[in-house]
Amino acid sequence: MTAFTALWITETPDGRYQRSLVERQVSDLPAGEVLIQVAYSSLNYKDALSASGNRGVTRQYPHTPGVDAAGYVVASTDPAFRAGEEVLVTGYDLGMNTAGGFGGYIRVPAAWVLPLPADLSLRDSMIYGTAGFTAALSVYKLQQAGLRPDQGEVLVTGASGGVGCVAVALLSKLGYTVVAGSGKASAQVFLRSLGASEILSRAQLQDETDRALLKSRWAGVVDTVGGDILATALKSTRYGGCVSCCGLVAGAALPTTVFPFILRSVNLLGIDSVACPLPLRRLLWQHLATDWRVETLAQLVTETDLSGLKDHYLDAILHGAVQGRVLVKHAVCT
Ligand code: NDP
Repeated sequence: MTAFTALWITETPDGRYQRSLVERQVSDLPAGEVLIQVAYSSLNYKDALSASGNRGVTRQYPHTPGVDAAGYVVASTDPAFRAGEEVLVTGYDLGMNTAGGFGGYIRVPAAWVLPLPADLSLRDSMIYGTAGFTAALSVYKLQQAGLRPDQGEVLVTGASGGVGCVAVALLSKLGYTVVAGSGKASAQVFLRSLGASEILSRAQLQDETDRALLKSRWAGVVDTVGGDILATALKSTRYGGCVSCCGLVAGAALPTTVFPFILRSVNLLGIDSVACPLPLRRLLWQHLATDWRVETLAQLVTETDLSGLKDHYLDAILHGAVQGRVLVKHAVCT
């Protein structure tokens, strides 16, 4: 019997969702080929949705969220993995309806598990986490659509958040001129230190006219927020430019017209990290470990444990109040 600590979300009879830290047993975990002792996880917006009863993310409670996990293989019935190997898991069903990285152990299908790239530590892999991977996927898709540094400015929205801050740092490293859009006046120094050349407020990113097109400015956009801000970015994108879309913190609706697409040939690129095919997953993690490595990772991170997550960070991310990435370190398990 191996016991471990996990964040445990339960539904009360009056429909509220409570968080506690509980002791669980490895034998409680779902069936799967690979048992992993989790050393680090990280906080993503989706984890806060799961922890607050969002049924679009998690159908059944009680539940342990955590869409990210990095740690050591304890046992594997798949010969591709051996005990002691360092691995990471992001996306798929982890933390949604499969007990996730906010517990000291996970058991998952072998197809979800990636060997840790040689040049990456477990800790750094979780500073990136799903947010960093999604930023890399967004940049990759913009590049595939033809975006090059000499074409002009690239806007990143929700720039101080998890996906946004890695996108700012990554684009800047790759030679792009990055303009950061942020609702946090306090994030100016942070965003400039990651490489942003200019910072715009949310009000500056939100067009309140009913004009179909605005003055064209952006060669590319990494949008992490959706809603009116994404609609405004589309109106302000240059002829032939491209815009990636991954998030919905500002709204799931997209109040746009066809004009950016049919008059300016703008490309809107969908981003999904959850079911991203394995070859592309491997390629992007390899990039993040080597030629795309963000040298400013240490500036992005706040480290916490399960208590800090439970008492503070899950609420903070729901309110858009987290700056950078929150790394979750697990206590040594018994
Ligand atoms: P964070 O909470 O870390 O970052 C979101 C940022 O958006 C905030 O820090 C804030 O930045 C800004 N923001 C928050 N609320 C609003 C608002 N009402 N209007 C405008 N901007 C707002 O979340 P993540 O970076 O983890 O995720 C961002 C989005 O991307 C989420 O919707 C998430 O679900 C989605 N996502 C999607 C993935 C996919 O595969 N498609 C994978 C990962 C994330 P600032 O104050 O700087 O403006």
